[in-house]
Amino acid sequence: MSEKREVPPKNILERIAKKNGIAIVVVDEAGKQSPAVNDNSICAVLNPEGVLVGRCARDCGRALQRASDENATISYTCHAGLLCRAAKFDAEGKPAAVIVGRAFTNSENYRRAANRAMTGDWRDLPASRFFENILLLSSDAPLVDALRELKDASKQEAAAPRLEAPQAKEIARRAAAINERTKRAASGPDPADWRSFFGSLLGRDYISARNATIEFAVKNFSLHSLIWLEKRAERLESTAVSAKLKGRSVNVGIAVDDERLADAAAGETPIVLGKPATAEEPNPKQVLLFAMPVGDDIPAALVVLDKVPQEERRRAIARFCRSVAPQLEILRLRAEMERRARLDEVSERLAEGIRDLDTEELWMHLARVSADLLQAERASLMTRDDVARRFRVKGAVGSVFDLQDDAEPGERVARIVFERGKPIVVRDVAITGLETVAKERKYKTASFLSAPIWLGERQLAVINFTDKVTGAPFDRRDLDLVKAITPQLAAAIDRTQLKERAGELEQLSVTDPLTGLLNRRYMVQRLSEEVKRSNRHGYPMAFVMLDVDHFKSYNDSFGHPAGDEALKIVASVIRETLRDADVAVRFGGEEFAILLPQTTDVEAANIADRVRQNVASAEFPHRDVTISVGVASCTSEVCAQMDLISAADKALYRAKAEGRNRVSIYQSADSEEG
Ligand code: GH3
Ligand code: MG
Ligand code: MG
Repeated sequence: MSEKREVPPKNILERIAKKNGIAIVVVDEAGKQSPAVNDNSICAVLNPEGVLVGRCARDCGRALQRASDENATISYTCHAGLLCRAAKFDAEGKPAAVIVGRAFTNSENYRRAANRAMTGDWRDLPASRFFENILLLSSDAPLVDALRELKDASKQEAAAPRLEAPQAKEIARRAAAINERTKRAASGPDPADWRSFFGSLLGRDYISARNATIEFAVKNFSLHSLIWLEKRAERLESTAVSAKLKGRSVNVGIAVDDERLADAAAGETPIVLGKPATAEEPNPKQVLLFAMPVGDDIPAALVVLDKVPQEERRRAIARFCRSVAPQLEILRLRAEMERRARLDEVSERLAEGIRDLDTEELWMHLARVSADLLQAERASLMTRDDVARRFRVKGAVGSVFDLQDDAEPGERVARIVFERGKPIVVRDVAITGLETVAKERKYKTASFLSAPIWLGERQLAVINFTDKVTGAPFDRRDLDLVKAITPQLAAAIDRTQLKERAGELEQLSVTDPLTGLLNRRYMVQRLSEEVKRSNRHGYPMAFVMLDVDHFKSYNDSFGHPAGDEALKIVASVIRETLRDADVAVRFGGEEFAILLPQTTDVEAANIADRVRQNVASAEFPHRDVTISVGVASCTSEVCAQMDLISAADKALYRAKAEGRNRVSIYQSADSEEG
């Protein structure tokens, strides 16, 4: 038997769709959707022309065919993860499928869809429109109800003569009013009231929607003391309380795999936490926990501390929690996705910094990126210097008072954080008993957040935030954000420190510890480069060897430490006499060398003689010191590096032989002597 069912008019579709929190879409044979009431924004974005395309054409587009073939209502989950039910109707004499649902019934499917939109194959679709009207349900019951209501409405349409619209409205209004009065008396507010409240939620952010829900429950169920629980790792933990409990410490939680939770979510009853009543204690302290299920997940729960003895009221609260849960889950996931997008952006910026910046800039960059993430006007990154037993400010942004000038940075807060190894979030510094800061710091707010940065077992640094741009205090969400970027920050800091240490090491390995001049190793490297450059471009270049005269006797007379002091003085005279481009090194023992790029041997001899004179006239603690100098230059004859060194050495030998405290230029005759 195939009875004809006409699609009810659009206003009825709208009422049924809104009431059940689902989409209702009429699809003709060609896959044209008209009307599409309360449609899921994902479907609207995927089929922008109102005609089913792509994989949607294969799922919803075939609903009519399948419902006709099977001559029954069909049910399916589409490629986007949305649950749908469809039945065959007539639309103005032509066959059409009425599809109801298009809603996520488990949060896993929603998360998958959200990820596709964020980073997957739907990435290029307009993200803001994507999440305009996401439908989430905790079960398929609203789909079943909606289809039944549609069929009923269709029958009534056919049977009853239509009332004039105003008349119909008036009757509906009165019926609703009566309905409301009877229901309210029995079990609190009518679900019809909830719907306008639910509608108002979707325009809010998650936190404000959650707080509004707590308020709504307080008002409509005449409750006072409510605690909101949210899933954190493996437990539902308190994250918010009603006004009456503000400022009081609450400690309620439950493991997410507690069997009572699933039972409570399935039935319409709360879990009773606390001791059961006994003859001695007929009214023990008990609280009621109402699960807020979304599909097979329980992301939140509401705990009621007030006494609610009436079964009916308990059931009403349970129903309310159940109905509001999907709405809040949408908002929570939306916030979670925005958060993830921000974190992705931050890790990208951190990675860029490591690639492009030098270490000093990098510390500033890390502080700046973190400050941006928390919308803090000021942030600082401190590391602990174990030797000096103090904190060092490595990077800071937005400080009026320059932290670098602080005699003891980090002694108030960072030290405590460092010692405890745990973060501190303070809403108001006045109530912590911490020393208040000097006025010149000009902090705008009394709130701060300070957290240690760990890499495995090592505590690398402490990061501090003050002055939120909004003027609001820092809270747990900010702390969660910091925790989320800590691994990246730790990696960046570790690499920065490695870089710094590598820089120091590199410096160490080419400098002479006694005189601070560069060492022989460096000279050998540089010399080979300069020789090549000189040969390639035909530049002149000179190499100079210097040796302290009679230094053995200086040591013998005044001791080795005095000798060291004398070598330092010689080194500083050399350094002061030379130009920036010249390279002076301690070649070994009491020998020094100078590389003079783009300098002829005659010019080099002049420079060398100035050094010689300056040493001779310098003040030494025990007696005058002189040097002998040999100069060699890169000519067509001697242009290999080793030749240059030995040429300078030979010239030096001649300067010694000729009486010391003098400069001699290499001549080819020196070769035969040596
Ligand atoms: P000349 O070069 O004028 O021929 O005589 P000299 O006495 O300087 O010659 P020699 O090469 O025999 O002695 C070099 C002395 O320099 C030997 C060593 O004790 C001293 N010397 C080398 N390196 C150091 C050093 O790092 N510190 C000190 N204090 N003395 C050093
Ligand atoms: Mg010597
Ligand atoms: Mg000597």
